[in-house]
Amino acid sequence: VNKPEKEFISQLQAKYEEKVDSTNIKSFANFPLSPKTLKGLKTSGYNKPTDIQRETLMLGITGKDILGAAQTGSGKTLAFIIPILERLFCKQWTHLDGLGALVITPTRELAYQIFETLRRVGSFHDFSAGLIIGGKDLKFERRRMDQCNIIICTPGRLLQHMDENPLFNADNLQILVLDEADRCLDMGFEETMNAIIANLPVKRQTLLFSATQTKSVKDLARLSLKDPSYVAVHENA
Ligand code: ADP
Ligand code: MG
Repeated sequence: VNKPEKEFISQLQAKYEEKVDSTNIKSFANFPLSPKTLKGLKTSGYNKPTDIQRETLMLGITGKDILGAAQTGSGKTLAFIIPILERLFCKQWTHLDGLGALVITPTRELAYQIFETLRRVGSFHDFSAGLIIGGKDLKFERRRMDQCNIIICTPGRLLQHMDENPLFNADNLQILVLDEADRCLDMGFEETMNAIIANLPVKRQTLLFSATQTKSVKDLARLSLKDPSYVAVHENA
């Protein structure tokens, strides 16, 4: 274990205790984020957090479960990518630690977009990331699976790996993200999601993001989140 880095991480985490006045946030640099993440945000052209990002970042990086609701286009992707990067960085996650974060999103296209954002914003970290979305060679996905720290996936394909792939191992999972949960449910993935969640370690952080808060989203939240913080950002906020 790298000792100077460990001390640096302790100093960074000490700042988690300081109160961030969210009305005064002008840039991502106002949050106690690792230099690697800040650099990734900057080079990707992200300077100022959106409302949902501003309201959820501290909760996410300090390990809280979140039920976040905000309209499409409000920036929910970074609201979970940044906590994933920060949590794994603070745990000094390496390839030896295996799968640390899992993001489930309803469509291949959304998975691609998230993967691309993660690649750019996370480019100064050393984590490996993989897409598990079907439409590709199952064998190819299968062999790469055990090498990924972060997996972005669609529900059906993930469950297929969980059922059939001996290399799939989520025992060390730290963070589960249920992205666009309302759409996942609208597309008929409720049972698939329940089966996935039942297969994951109970001791984990879960971030659930959705554009709307329907009854079925609340059911999924009850099943997957522990003592969550509710964050809803409205169109005219
Ligand atoms: P949602 O998932 O809420 O629909 P996305 O995360 O896909 O929204 O973001 C929508 C768009 O806003 C994307 O093009 C993204 O690059 C951009 N975006 C997100 N956060 C920021 C930010 N802090 N500053 C500038 N643009 C951003
Ligand atoms: Mg989204």
